[in-house]
Amino acid sequence: MSKGKLFVISGASGVGKGTVLKEVMKRRQDLRFSVSATTRPPRPSEVDGREYYFVTRERFEEMIRNGEFLEYDEHNSNYYGTPRRQALEKLEEGSVLLDIEPKGAAQVRQSAPEATLIFIMPPSMEELERRLRDRNDTPEDQIEMRLKRAVWEMEQRVWYDHVVVNDELERCVDEVLAILAKECGESA
Ligand code: 5GP
Repeated sequence: MSKGKLFVISGASGVGKGTVLKEVMKRRQDLRFSVSATTRPPRPSEVDGREYYFVTRERFEEMIRNGEFLEYDEHNSNYYGTPRRQALEKLEEGSVLLDIEPKGAAQVRQSAPEATLIFIMPPSMEELERRLRDRNDTPEDQIEMRLKRAVWEMEQRVWYDHVVVNDELERCVDEVLAILAKECGESA
C-alpha cells in the first residue's frame, strides 16, 4: 500500500502551469514532484534532474522497451514519460504530482483510477497565445504546433475531475491547494 495520493495536473503549453505548480509546491512541501524524462532539449533555465531528465531518443526508446514508464507519449516532436520506479518510490513517501498532458493522464487513469486529475484552463485562447509568445523560449514553428495542440488538449478537460481557470495566479493556486487538501482528507 502506498502512503500518498497521486495527482495529475494538465494544461496547454503557455497556460502558466509551471508557475502555478511552483507556487503549489512551495506551499505544500510534503508534495513530491515526479520528474519526467524527455527527448526535448533543455531550455536555458532548465537543469537536468530538476525539471526533466533529458535523454536521447535511443535511450527513451530503450526505456519504453524495458517497460520503465508508468505512462509516456510523443508530442511536439518529442517523447515525454513518467519513470515508473521513481513515481512509485515517491508515492511510498507521500503524495505525488505529475505534470503531464492528456494522453498520459488517460494512461494514469487506466492504471491508477484513484488518481485525481486536474486540468488548468487559460482565460481565453488569445491570452494563451500571448503568454506562449511572451515566454520567448519557444521557436515560432513550435508555437504554431503547440497552439493547435492546445485546442485538442482543452477539449479533453471534460473527463478530468477538476477544471481550474488560471485567470489570476493567486486565485488559481488557492483553488488547486483546496482540491489537494480535500482529496487528502484535510479540513480547511
Ligand atoms: P514542455 O515541453 O513545455 O516542458 O512540456 C510540454 C507538455 O508535455 C506539457 O503539456 C507537459 O505537461 C507534458 N509532459 C511533461 N512531462 C510529461 C510526461 O512525463 N508524460 C506526458 N504524457 N506528458 C508530459
